[in-house]
Amino acid sequence: MTHSVWRLALRRLCPSCGQGKLFAGFLTVRARCPVCDLDLSAQDSGDGGPTFGVFILCFLIPPLALWFEFHFDPPWWAHVLIWPPMSMLLLWWLLPVIKSWLIAEQYRRTVWQAGGKNDYR
Ligand SMILES: [Zn+2]
Repeated sequence: MTHSVWRLALRRLCPSCGQGKLFAGFLTVRARCPVCDLDLSAQDSGDGGPTFGVFILCFLIPPLALWFEFHFDPPWWAHVLIWPPMSMLLLWWLLPVIKSWLIAEQYRRTVWQAGGKNDYR
């Protein structure tokens, strides 16, 4: 079965079978996959999720805020009402996706380096 790493990340699925849910909570990785019983306890994305998340936000939010400022000339409090909540919501959505993506990439490379069949795109 061929798995797209991005499909796994967006759906937050097990990197091996592509069916079991990866997280037990918001960002807590399950100890084992409920479908294929893959040991997920060794999968660790470290600080990669927050780092990439903040990196993406820093490239996205300031240009949008500048465009909003120069295009609509809003009062200062409009920026306060829009950008912090938007940043938090985007980061809330991005964190599990990025963490899932890092785990899928880590698993893919571990399997590949071990000489296993690599059926990822
Ligand atoms: Zn699985």
